Amino acid sequence: MPVKFPDFRPRRDTFPEKLWTRCPSCSEQLFNKALEKSLRVCPSCGHHFRVSSAERLAHLLDPGTFEERDPGLSSQDPLGFVDQKPYPDRLAAARLATGLTDAAVWGFGLIEDHRVAILVMDFGFMGGSMGAVVGEKVARAAEGALAARVPLVIVSASGGARMQEGTLALMQLAKTMAALERLRAAGVPYVSVMSDPTTGGVFASYAAMGDVNLAEPNALIGFAGARVGAGTIGQELPPGFQRAEFLFRHGFVDRVVARADLRRELAALLRYLAPGAAEAGRG
Ligand SMILES: [Zn+2]
Repeated sequence: MPVKFPDFRPRRDTFPEKLWTRCPSCSEQLFNKALEKSLRVCPSCGHHFRVSSAERLAHLLDPGTFEERDPGLSSQDPLGFVDQKPYPDRLAAARLATGLTDAAVWGFGLIEDHRVAILVMDFGFMGGSMGAVVGEKVARAAEGALAARVPLVIVSASGGARMQEGTLALMQLAKTMAALERLRAAGVPYVSVMSDPTTGGVFASYAAMGDVNLAEPNALIGFAGARVGAGTIGQELPPGFQRAEFLFRHGFVDRVVARADLRRELAALLRYLAPGAAEAGRG
């Protein structure tokens, strides 16, 4: 007669939420609570994990100061686009996974008492791709900054234009640039922060156009992928090509700033670029 062993397996539904994350850079197992505390930067090697738009806002803004604008804007499917899946299905899945309506969130808030218009992108929503909604929100953030005469801060995290919206996505490059040009003409400062990754049409438009361009350590930043670049020029690319530090050495990026210093760095820039903004923030 077979011996029946008692069942020691813990019940799946009593498992705690995922507790550990393995660092892809140094392979260290990191306790998720500790990772949250370190702003999702690996304490042993400094690897910067990607963060959601909500986490980014929490890292940068004074607590409780964010006032979101245009939260309801959502993409249509004007081309009836289908790749492996219909575009509306991809949108629905991304909405469910992130709780967002699209890949960017914008509004007003305070950074160490400096009032800013801020837009943050979310890579978790279809790779942070820019379609009509992201482009429209960038344009509205620039217009909002202009109307309120407060600096604009944009934190990018994007693979580029959203192919499911075709030419309508590419049109956003021109639209966002036109809005930023009006901001520039009025002398309202714009600080761009490029996080991993900032590529394609987002890099080729607003992300690289800050009065000051900051980047997070080791962020992938560039237009076409490295393989396309190497194929086009028929040469091997130098080591570290399209990483934040390489771009800093070659003058595309003004400063590489670790996430833990980003809020303080932005506040210092705002003090310098828009000295009146702190009073406006308090008023
Ligand atoms: Zn690590």
